[in-house]
Amino acid sequence: MRLVLLGPPGAGKGTLAALLKKSLGILHISTGDMLRDEIKHNTPVGHEAKKLIDNGNLVSDELITTLIKARLKELPSNNYMLDGYPRTLVQAEQLDEYLNDIHKPLDCAVYMEASLKKIIFRLSGRMVCRNCGMLYHRSTRPPLKTGVCNKCSGELYQREDDNEETIKTRMHIYQESTKPIVHYYESKGKLIRIDGDAESEDLEAQLLKKFNESKASNQPKDSR
Ligand code: ADP
Repeated sequence: MRLVLLGPPGAGKGTLAALLKKSLGILHISTGDMLRDEIKHNTPVGHEAKKLIDNGNLVSDELITTLIKARLKELPSNNYMLDGYPRTLVQAEQLDEYLNDIHKPLDCAVYMEASLKKIIFRLSGRMVCRNCGMLYHRSTRPPLKTGVCNKCSGELYQREDDNEETIKTRMHIYQESTKPIVHYYESKGKLIRIDGDAESEDLEAQLLKKFNESKASNQPKDSR
């Protein structure tokens, strides 16, 4: 299964990805994580990306598509979810072109909607493990020990771009550049909508139900 996760920052894509990784056993590819890794290792790509990311702007379509194609080529499996990519219509078209060329098209795009109030609450309290990427929230999902990951004892930190000013820029860019992708996948009959305001325990059940519904409706009538 190949899918993309769509939705504004803070809609819960990372949380859903962690659930799906566990229940479907598919790989989780996050372009945000890939870029933060480039920054951590001080690579030329990291240099180019850092300022843009810290200000809440997008890196170029060319840079990110080159990076994602290289990653897809080296994956051990063709079952994966992309989180944070595509983020512009150009990226969505480039991805489709590439996947059609290798005859491994996407199965669906999962779109998580969430209210602005919920997004700001989630992002401003979000903490991430520097070591394993596990997500926490100061009030709704605090770690057992302050500042320490429950899973691997790594250090928890707040992302530099999770501040109010940058969140506003990211939301604006999302509305302008990323939202049109929703219609792109809808017009191809590949869109699955999920309520991002739901609590994380309900997300997985919601999605598995929708997967089954979409499988049933895509089946040819004589095979039902
Ligand atoms: P978010 O919480 O905004 O969904 P991500 O971790 O997905 O954050 O991405 C962090 C930042 O990395 C983005 O604000 C953007 O600057 C950059 N980035 C990630 N993916 C892409 C992409 N597909 N195209 C352009 N920039 C990207």
